[in-house]
Amino acid sequence: MDFSREDILAHLDNRALKLISQVADEMQVECYVIGGYVRDFFLFRPSKDIDVVAVGSGVALAENVSKKWGRGAKVSVFKNFGTAQLKYKDFEIEFVGARKESYNRNSRKPIVENGTLEDDQRRRDFTINAMAFCLNAKRFGELVDPFGGLQDLDELIIRTPLDPDITFSDDPLRMMRAVRFASQLGFDIHPETFEAITRNRERIAIVSAERIIDELNKIILSPKPSIGFILLDKTGLLELILPEFTALKGAETKDGVGHKDNFFHTLSVFDTISRKTDNLWLRWAALLHDIGKPLAKRWDPKLGWTFHNHDIIGEKTVSKIFKRLKLPLNEKMRYVQKLVGLHMRPMQLVEDEVTDSAIRRLLFDTGDDIDDLMTLCEADITSKNPEKVRRFLNNFKIVRRKLKDIEEKDRVRNFQPPVDGNEIMQVFGLGQSREVGLLKTAIKDAILDGEIPNEHDAAYRFLLEKAASMGLMPVK
Ligand code: ATP
Repeated sequence: MDFSREDILAHLDNRALKLISQVADEMQVECYVIGGYVRDFFLFRPSKDIDVVAVGSGVALAENVSKKWGRGAKVSVFKNFGTAQLKYKDFEIEFVGARKESYNRNSRKPIVENGTLEDDQRRRDFTINAMAFCLNAKRFGELVDPFGGLQDLDELIIRTPLDPDITFSDDPLRMMRAVRFASQLGFDIHPETFEAITRNRERIAIVSAERIIDELNKIILSPKPSIGFILLDKTGLLELILPEFTALKGAETKDGVGHKDNFFHTLSVFDTISRKTDNLWLRWAALLHDIGKPLAKRWDPKLGWTFHNHDIIGEKTVSKIFKRLKLPLNEKMRYVQKLVGLHMRPMQLVEDEVTDSAIRRLLFDTGDDIDDLMTLCEADITSKNPEKVRRFLNNFKIVRRKLKDIEEKDRVRNFQPPVDGNEIMQVFGLGQSREVGLLKTAIKDAILDGEIPNEHDAAYRFLLEKAASMGLMPVK
């Protein structure tokens, strides 16, 4: 790897680390920067989280640093965990004493004892995360790398410091982390580490949904997320955490008619959208856009394979998945549901004639998420036929232009009908009833179909006519 001692010193050149070094020497305590901050130095990745490990009490070291610092440094101590945190500029420095861990089979929570630096490095997940820089003045900046992390970084390999069966069985979350780092960094998982994940995959059951989702979201946000999903699939983890997604696999053929493999199609859409956006929830929508297909799949002797209503089934499946995985059940979920539920609409528009009325309806149903929906639909074109791709993309361009024109003209994006239910009830002396619903829908349809402008007076006149045809008269 191409770096010099000066580079390391520059990386550690920060007031907080210098002070920690001084205080550690005064206390005669060995002390190191360890983990992600060391790894990220060699990867040229900017990083603001610094983990400091003291061979002794991390809390005492933090408290002394805080005393010496005076005002300006905020130290919070978490006595129960034996850790302390110091905030300096936008750095977060975490202090902990070197520890040795042993595990019991049913829990991720270890039994902790004080240990040496090497004990502490052994409990780390991967060799690339187990490297340390010494902070004591005599050895300031010295790299301590007993498991060959630097070489693994150089060869782009994720590997556990100990026997991988032990590392993963102790804390099965590390299996998700292995895939996450491989996906984030574009690394390979070492074959023995990979096989151990496959062997230990069922142990993922003792990890909480929240922790799994943390890692899954990081995989989803990685530059090419299909890398992570293919690894999750090959190790068998995907089947355990997202069986709805592995159900997309396979391309069945009947009477010589096949359909595309929706698993690989989805991964291709997922990578395409990830080149366009860092919006986690839009990436989730791409991941789940065809999730309704396995349930919707039918064989029709005339039409071949059909997936009617897979959008609607997909919308329902989204909430099932979000609940199970403890994803947020708020507007984020509704956004993903909306995109999954509407993802066929722009394509249907292209196939039929692009009428103003259809465009207004799409705008009305999508609101401010229309651009994201179009981005998803454009990514959804994965045909291998370049002529077809060109034609679809061109049609979507027309749809986008029309959307813009209609939006400027009619402003239906966040449309609220100009005559609402309360007014209808007042005018006709009605309570909440079927008639009120029918009249409300009629007004909305008339506006979206362009029969009347989006204005109160026109809508009111229309209301009177429509009500009269239903035998209703105003009360005053
Ligand atoms: P990122 O900052 O990208 O989330 P990171 O690994 O650097 O990744 P943390 O998750 O805060 O950040 O972990 C910090 C360090 O703690 C890691 O580098 C690793 O040494 C260790 N570590 C974290 N989680 C585990 C775990 N489950 N098992 C073993 N070691 C872990």
